[in-house]
Amino acid sequence: MLMMFPTVYAPLLIFLSVLRAVGAETTDPLYLNFHNLYLDESLSLTPQNMTCHKNSSSTDISNGPNLLLPFNRTRIPSSSGSIYIQNYIKKYYKTNLTSPWNVEIDSFVEKNHTFTNLAFTLGGAASQYIVLAAHYDSKIEPEGFIGGIDSATPCAILMYISKFMDHFYLNSSSNIDANLANKDIGLKIVFFDGEEALKQWGPNDSIYGSKHLAKRWINNGVMEKVSLFVLLDLLGSADKSIIPSYFSSTNSNYRLLNDIENEFNSQFKSYNNTKYFNPQELRFQNFNRIVIEDDHIPFVENDVNVLHLIPVPFPKVWHTIDDNFHNLDQDNIKKWAIILTKFTLESLMGNPDQTYNSAFSSSNNTSE
Ligand SMILES: [Zn+2]
Repeated sequence: MLMMFPTVYAPLLIFLSVLRAVGAETTDPLYLNFHNLYLDESLSLTPQNMTCHKNSSSTDISNGPNLLLPFNRTRIPSSSGSIYIQNYIKKYYKTNLTSPWNVEIDSFVEKNHTFTNLAFTLGGAASQYIVLAAHYDSKIEPEGFIGGIDSATPCAILMYISKFMDHFYLNSSSNIDANLANKDIGLKIVFFDGEEALKQWGPNDSIYGSKHLAKRWINNGVMEKVSLFVLLDLLGSADKSIIPSYFSSTNSNYRLLNDIENEFNSQFKSYNNTKYFNPQELRFQNFNRIVIEDDHIPFVENDVNVLHLIPVPFPKVWHTIDDNFHNLDQDNIKKWAIILTKFTLESLMGNPDQTYNSAFSSSNNTSE
């Protein structure tokens, strides 16, 4: 993505009861919960697996519990690394998750590259959707660029959130379709291809995937059903840059995330509790305006409510060879996973505390 200043561009409290064992001893089986069960294995940066894979086979798909390490490879559009990741993601939703995720494959050719967006939907009959998105492609230059924060980690977190929603619905009293139908809201998880420029960032050389999917969704009527579009980018480093509130239309969503983060920080003091959100940082006001070009732009242009989760200033490894898995921060990755699962659930279900508690206590019972 590109940042411009200034610009004329117009266009779980349950943490308390359920999550308190995260990062702590779990001697009481009642504290076993989703994050206790899955967070470490899903998003750990295992040192022995830290080698970078420049060349990868598109057939040998890792299907282990770790969702992050498979992204530790170059993912240039059309390359074998890109095909590998596409297959890995598709296989995950098809075989590792049990809810009826509907897959949408948006593939197209531009500038001699084949780009492929992947979108997965829960609640296909809903009249509105919350969309969570990140890009999975990596920059061509510098050679060997991995993009640990840009956007391997955001993609793995999206997969973790999907697993959480899967688990939540499976352990709810009614099935997933009934839950979503009752609220008349669905969830779409989107993995964009071609966010990065092929040569030099500009309006005609960037965000290939999001521009294409936006057009497709305008044509098939999905766009007008998107009630909230959340874009994750540059997350997972130890940098302490804040994420301001970029859009007035989603300032209430921003404040919800801020509340969830405050709750997390008060409960999990063992984490490096950087504050990412600050409700005073209103960057949509004229005197304080900032515009970042990223995959949300085609959606902003179509009047979609956008919540852009990207820190400023950008982390110092941004677009350098140092944006690799060695420079990811384990605590921050886990923190993002925890607060964004809660945010997703609250955004979909309103105040889910009761349901959430009962869902996880029933899962605790079955896991004992
Ligand atoms: Zn980038």
